[in-house]
Amino acid sequence: VSPGDECNYCRAPIRWMTTVNGKAMPVDAQPSERGNVIRLGEHAGVLGPRQADAARYAGNQLFMPHVATCPDADKWRGKKPARAGAGRRRRR
Ligand SMILES: [Zn+2]
Repeated sequence: VSPGDECNYCRAPIRWMTTVNGKAMPVDAQPSERGNVIRLGEHAGVLGPRQADAARYAGNQLFMPHVATCPDADKWRGKKPARAGAGRRRRR
């Protein structure tokens, strides 16, 4: 984790975390009250909505994955056409 990183696309300050699976994941540098990424020692854990609420309630700081807030998030997945399958983001 090197402080002072910025997004390659929008230049927002981000920080890199490593998930428990060993994947590098950029999150917003500032904790967010809507975030769902918790810091677990050296690793980052991605929480479900209820877990995130509980963690917040317990006073933890949660971070937002930068891909969720980046205005240029499309570019992150430049390889995939955006229209392939709208799935993933279901709301009720
Ligand atoms: Zn960005």
